[in-house]
Order: sequence, then C-alpha cells, then structure tokens
Amino acid sequence: MNEYDSHMVESQLVALGAELVSNVDHADFVLVNTCAVRGKPVDKVKAVLGDLRKLKHSRGLMLGMMGCLAQLEEGQEIAKKYEVDVLLGPGALTDIGAALEGNKKFWSLAFKDDIHEFIPPPPKGKLSVMLTIQRGCDHHCTYCIVPTTRGPQVSRTPQNIMTELGAMVEAGVLEVTLLGQNVNSYGLDQPGMPGFGELLRMVGKSGIPRVKFTTSHPMDFSDDIIQAIAETENVCKYIHLPVQSGSNAVLKRMGREYTREFYLERIAKIRSLMPDIFLTTDLIVGFPSETEADFLETLSLYEEVAFDSAYTFIYSARAGTPSYKHFDDQPKEVKSERLTRLIERQRHWAQVKNSSLIGKEVEVLLRGPAYEPTFMEGHTQAHHPILLPASEAPFPGLYRARVEHATPHMVFGKVTQTIQTSFITPALYNSPVIPSATMT
Ligand code: SAH
Ligand code: SF4
Repeated sequence: MNEYDSHMVESQLVALGAELVSNVDHADFVLVNTCAVRGKPVDKVKAVLGDLRKLKHSRGLMLGMMGCLAQLEEGQEIAKKYEVDVLLGPGALTDIGAALEGNKKFWSLAFKDDIHEFIPPPPKGKLSVMLTIQRGCDHHCTYCIVPTTRGPQVSRTPQNIMTELGAMVEAGVLEVTLLGQNVNSYGLDQPGMPGFGELLRMVGKSGIPRVKFTTSHPMDFSDDIIQAIAETENVCKYIHLPVQSGSNAVLKRMGREYTREFYLERIAKIRSLMPDIFLTTDLIVGFPSETEADFLETLSLYEEVAFDSAYTFIYSARAGTPSYKHFDDQPKEVKSERLTRLIERQRHWAQVKNSSLIGKEVEVLLRGPAYEPTFMEGHTQAHHPILLPASEAPFPGLYRARVEHATPHMVFGKVTQTIQTSFITPALYNSPVIPSATMT
C-alpha cells in the first residue's frame, strides 16, 4: 500500500516537472514514506530522518514525511525533532503540489476526497502493478493503529478503478494486485456499490492476464467472493486471509469478530471449490495475556489448515489502540520463543507445499533479474516465488516452466514455453489523471 502511495506522490511530482534521482546526494527534496503498524518501522524512520537532517544542515535539503506515522502525534513529534518541512498524512497525498509552493513549511493531515479519484499512470517498466480499490478500515481490531491513521473505509468507484486498470492493460501490464486494508469489504461502505465479488468479475473481463488481491478479512469473505475467485479464470488462485490467532479467547480480545470454527469453515468452503488454492495468513504471537495453551491453539490451527506460508509478528503495543491500555505482559523471551516455534512450522509447511510442485508445470510471471544474476525472479500464477535460469528466460514476461527443486522460500524451474515477453512503453508514464482541484 505504501508502494502504491509513494508512486502516486511520485507521479504528481513528475507531472510538476520534478526529476527523480536514485541517489540522495543529488536530491533537493526527500520525502520519507512511513508505517506505524509496529514499533520497529518507527525506529527505522527516526534513523533515516536523523541522517537526512544532517544533509539539511549541510546543504539545505528539504525534508518531507508522509504516510501513517505522519498522522499520529508520535509522528508529528518526530517530524518536529528532525525538522521536517512537508508532512502529509495518508489521506492528504494530493496536497503534494500545494506543499511545494513557496518553499515554506506545509503540514496536512486532511482526509481529502480527491485522493479516491486520483489515477496515477502505470509505473514505468513494471509488468506487475498495484491498484488501490479502497482506503481506510471499518474494523476495530484492538491491537491495530490503522483505523486511527487511515480513517474509515472509503471504496473507490468502479469507474475510477476500471479507468486506472485500462491504462495498465494498454501499457502492457500483465498482473494487477487489487489493494486495500480489507479488499473483500469493498463496497460495503456505500449503498448501491457493487461488492468485491462483482468487482472481481468486472476486473476479470479487462483483458489483464492475472488478477491478485490483498488483504482480506475473514468476516467479509462471502460465498459470492469465493465463487467469483473460482469462476474467473484470470483471478489467481491465491488468498491471503489473516487469522491472527487460533485461540477463541485471544481472537475475542483482539476484536476480530470471528471464531476459530468460523475461520475453518471459510477455509473448507474455499477448498471445496478450489482444492489447490495457495493460502497464506498473518499471525501475531504474544498478545496481552496469551497463555501457552492459547499459543498451542495457534500452532494446531496452523497444522489443521496447513498454510502455504505466513507472515508472523510479535505483538507490538501501539499507543492509541484499545489493547495498549492492557499490560503488554508477555516477557520478551516468551514472545521470541513462540515466534521461533511458529516459524519452524511455517518453514516445515512451506517446504512440504513447495516440494509438492516438483515435476509440475506452472505459469510464471518473471519480473526481472534475481539477486543472483544467473536467475530471473518472479511468481507462479498461484503466487509461489520462483527462479528460472536467465539463460532460458532472458526477458521479463509470462512463461511456462517445470518445477525441479524447492526450498521453504521458493521453487526453481526450467522453462518449457515462452508465452509472452513484454515491453512497456515509457511514454505512457507522462499522464496522471489529476482531480481538477488539486494542482492548479
Ligand atoms: N487489514 C489487514 C492488516 C493490516 S496490518 C488485515 O486485517 O488483514 C498487517 C498485519 O500486521 C496484520 O494482519 C497483523 O498481523 C499485523 N499487526 C497489526 N498491528 C499489529 C501490532 N500492534 N503488533 C503486531 N502485529 C500487528
Ligand atoms: Fe487493522 Fe483489523 Fe482493520 Fe486489519 S481489519 S487494518 S488488522 S483494524
């Protein structure tokens, strides 16, 4: 989501005549995008701003901060301390033009309506692109700062979404990922809007070869959505469905609105229509008062579902969230030990699931060179990370490949067919659709 937001601001700056540079030593203005979900990213922001402030003093660099942290008092204190000139909350990103007028301090925490109409051009040279379909969140998980920083849910209109998607198809983009805090709650905030199932069917007809989406809330994962994923061919058979905990007592204190049984029933429904679905989740360990028995329930849920992979987090107490007022009572060593045990199961299942692909043919979207340059990296249709030899697949694009080897992190394959290599037209980068009030 932050990547999408950064691109959205970047495209406005480019339309205003700015030139993007990859080295901070050549920049006149640096804008730091931030995350506030856990404590660690906040520490990272402080370290980055500390270095940038030195440059501000030595050569007059202008400093900006945007995103979730900017919306919080904690972030504003940090911005003051590090002498930030431009501060934009996550709802105020269309204020960047106004912020740069007149070289003076500009802070905006507004939740602007025009942000939902803003249509950034497809990012230059990318085959896999993100598209925000809704902002904010109407759930109230007790550990989570997002409803405070991003406000209530607002769904973008299908017209705006389809226009943005149309430009991607025209530019040669091969994969779109629909983004939102809970994409599957799409449309529930406004009467008369299509639901997420309907939107998926619409997006499926756009001609884009692959459609992915993230992230989803189990409560709103309806039968119609499951049906739409199953029946729409270009919607990838990949679902990220955060469960957070396997213990009903913890789920209740987290304010997650569902039980372990409800979650398992949704998984059973999904697998009844799509037995080979690639299924991932988010899990938090060390929530206040989580007992060893609670944690064992999380482990047993993991075994029962046999997730393909998971993002695992240690609970981070965030000021301003309802759970903050409860004592963060799990000792650090207990949290770390639970995380290690959970990651061990995650790696075990990832190895089992990835190994089950050996010998099979998969469709692969290659994005570009891997860290090890004799390979190109990408994802299978179902979202397994995959490496193919650069000698067999020298260009980004769509391929078919046979899987030969698997680790818990990825699979390795051999090219069997080149479906389509793709070249993006750089000229298409020139034209964001800017809501008229924004940049006069
Ligand atoms: N809207 C998404 C999640 C956004 S935050 C959803 O509900 O799925 C991404 C993940 O960060 C969450 O799923 C959760 O696992 C984790 N997270 C959020 N707040 C956290 C906190 N205070 N401590 C630890 N992990 C947290
Ligand atoms: Fe946070 Fe819960 Fe909303 Fe996800 S659903 S953004 S975890 S409040």
